[in-house]
Amino acid sequence: MKYCARCLYPENAKPTIIFDDDDGICSGCKYHESRQNLSVDWEQREQMFVQLLSEARAQAQQRNNIYDCIIPVSGGKDSHYQVYLLKEKYGMNPLLVTFNHVFNTASGVKNLQNLVEKSGCDLVRVTANPNSVKKIARFMLETVGDLTWHYHAGIRTVPFQVAVEKNIPLIVWGEHGFAELTGVVSLEDFVEFTKWTRKEHDMRGYEPEDLIKKSGGVISIKDLAPYVYPFDHAIERVGVRGIYISNFFDWNAKQHAEEMIEKWGFGTISYKRERSFNLYSKIEDHANDVHDYLKYLKFGYGRATDDASMEIRHGRMSREQGIDMVKQYDPIEPKTLETYLKFLDLSKAAFYQMIEPMRDPLIWEKKKGQWQVKDCVSNHLTTMDTIAAKLDLIPDRTFSTKNRHLYYNADNPPEKRGDPAFDEFNLKFVTL
Ligand SMILES: [Zn+2]
Repeated sequence: MKYCARCLYPENAKPTIIFDDDDGICSGCKYHESRQNLSVDWEQREQMFVQLLSEARAQAQQRNNIYDCIIPVSGGKDSHYQVYLLKEKYGMNPLLVTFNHVFNTASGVKNLQNLVEKSGCDLVRVTANPNSVKKIARFMLETVGDLTWHYHAGIRTVPFQVAVEKNIPLIVWGEHGFAELTGVVSLEDFVEFTKWTRKEHDMRGYEPEDLIKKSGGVISIKDLAPYVYPFDHAIERVGVRGIYISNFFDWNAKQHAEEMIEKWGFGTISYKRERSFNLYSKIEDHANDVHDYLKYLKFGYGRATDDASMEIRHGRMSREQGIDMVKQYDPIEPKTLETYLKFLDLSKAAFYQMIEPMRDPLIWEKKKGQWQVKDCVSNHLTTMDTIAAKLDLIPDRTFSTKNRHLYYNADNPPEKRGDPAFDEFNLKFVTL
């Protein structure tokens, strides 16, 4: 397997990653570099954004709308930052929309509450019913090895349903996640939300009608209401468009988390996580450990690869340190696997058997009945390419004392917050 000469991504990373033949650096690293390029005129981009917002305000006034845009939120650090920016800095009156996928952590629920209280924005929260979630999650786990299809489908659909219902034409998303990880689009594209990427990337090519057909009637239309995209004519009538805020601002997740901790009291967790050293990202998502472990079982890499690669690209961590993180976290079977198998009425043996055909043969091989990795990033330590691709480290190191509340370091663990929702990991998820 080929691994990036700068970060830790393998060639089989999803979505498609491309390696530069000359220097062995991946498209995600190149995209990250392009964002820091001095030729990107961030001031001009901010002006474009301000223009878009003023058009949205004018439209809202014409339509007698009290809300001038929609912000889809989960309660995470990005939600906090997006709402802060639009409400406080640009004087918008956004309506917040949450799709409640029911697999919440206690800290996630507290942070969502914090967001509503601190922002003074109204929130529409559509909660999926757990009986339908169970059917959908089990079917999608069997079919494509994903038990969180409903998350992505819900958060990419419910804001459009609300936009049509309330006649609000502008939806403001956070960062274009796929671009950030593996660099599938360029900053010059100013990509907007499309129905196509919703289906192909977020929903793995499955619309609700495909679930009904392919599940042989186990899943019915009544299970799928939050995932049914409005009719084209309704979208056109309201003129709904979805923009990504990261096209207009120099996006730095760590800085945003720090700002939101200081300004709005966003809560980070203080316990050691099983699959990553990061204490501020995706902490609202209880099923993320299992979701991420599935990625490891299929492609041989997980969250520690994602998180450490991001640290390396920012110059806060060396590649060698990143490889240590991958070795420590990526192969761990999370304790919550049992929680979810119980929820899905599935045995562990049946789960592992179900995943077998999904394992990438370039990474996995079965020896004497045991699955083993054929290759991993720790086999690709130092080469001429990695030396040439190395970035200078900046003074703000991942594991410095100043960052102990943001990244878990056993030698210097974070202080406890005095709130079990943030200090203790609970194996059970919170539905509401
Ligand atoms: Zn890379």
